[in-house]
Amino acid sequence: MIASILPTYSRAPLTFVAGEGAWLTEADGRRFLDLGAGIAVNALGHANPDLVEALTTQAQSVWHLSNLYNIPAQQKLADALVEQSFADTVFFTNSGTESCELAVKMARKYWYDKGQPERTEIITFSGSFHGRSSAGIAAAGSEKMTKGFGPLLPGFVHLEFGDIAAVKTAIGNETAAVLVEPIQGEGGIRPLSDADLKALRQICDDAGILLILDEVQCGVGRTGKLFAHEWAGITPDIMMVAKGIGGGFPLGAVLATENAASGMTAGTHGSTYGGNPLACAVGVKVMEIIANDAFLSEVNRKAALLRQKLEGLVAAYPEVFTEVRGAGLMLGLKCKAVNTEVVQAGYAQGVLTVPAADNVIRLLPPLNISDEDIAVAVELLEATAAQM
Ligand SMILES: *Cc1c(COP(=O)(O)O)cnc(C)c1O
Repeated sequence: MIASILPTYSRAPLTFVAGEGAWLTEADGRRFLDLGAGIAVNALGHANPDLVEALTTQAQSVWHLSNLYNIPAQQKLADALVEQSFADTVFFTNSGTESCELAVKMARKYWYDKGQPERTEIITFSGSFHGRSSAGIAAAGSEKMTKGFGPLLPGFVHLEFGDIAAVKTAIGNETAAVLVEPIQGEGGIRPLSDADLKALRQICDDAGILLILDEVQCGVGRTGKLFAHEWAGITPDIMMVAKGIGGGFPLGAVLATENAASGMTAGTHGSTYGGNPLACAVGVKVMEIIANDAFLSEVNRKAALLRQKLEGLVAAYPEVFTEVRGAGLMLGLKCKAVNTEVVQAGYAQGVLTVPAADNVIRLLPPLNISDEDIAVAVELLEATAAQM
């Protein structure tokens, strides 16, 4: 008999009943250090008092309004994002997947309105992840996600991740945009180099096509800058955001330049819940805390500390780990052992990590993790490696 929850996940037998900061408490009382943070979502830890206050204060006044009316918290969050980024305009969604949907629609509408409706193709890369909708799985193109769900949304061209030269030759008269994660998350914490991102920007500029960045996982302070592309000194035309921006409350966004968004006039897109007062009240507080030089420099300091300790761990356990990769607090340990078995062993030691493709385990702790918890994290990972 089918489970009452559609069985699309194989869940660990863990039931967390409470959280505080980087820690979760299991129903049986055991405590776990959460280095997954809901897959880069709980950017400011569990039960963050500032976020709880922002949410509950908003809930006590009004918690849903249609986008037929002005929503002050949404306006405030849009203004903050525009002020702190390349973007001129923002549309709010409830998830990364919905952000992908709009990014694709926006790029196609852009060309339609420019009188080149044949430009519908979007170049994407192997190992990418852009969500589970029809556009999202077609964009990523991996058989794991698309098998059985055809016919797939047409108009995606798949290239090898990191093969920047191939982008140049793949661009043709039907190309609308290039869509890429600056650091692949699900793909195994695989970063594009700053040089590659710069080259991609240049290629898009030369061809006059749009660059769409998927910063759903690597954005919002995760790499030590507010957005990961800032490290390369470039800006996209369109950017997908979600996960960390809501600090655990469902919230996503598409950020765009005025030019890229020029086709999205009244009536061309919408959302019932996107940009709702609760999500945006939390998002405003998340931005207040994270889009701050002092906060981001702490992320960088902690990231360097964690990375240095992880390099030591890899050196000490070469039969379990082979490499540390990633940037900021978006780190991956490439495993020699089977990654899912390392994650399992971590459960026994009281530490939560997240598997990714390419036999990697992901470490995506809350951005405000303390130095003490970083030390404990490495001890628990060491115990995990020893257990392997
Ligand atoms: C998680 C993720 C998505 C999908 O986000 P959802 O909120 O699960 O819909 C898209 N792109 C990237 C890079 C992600 O990590």
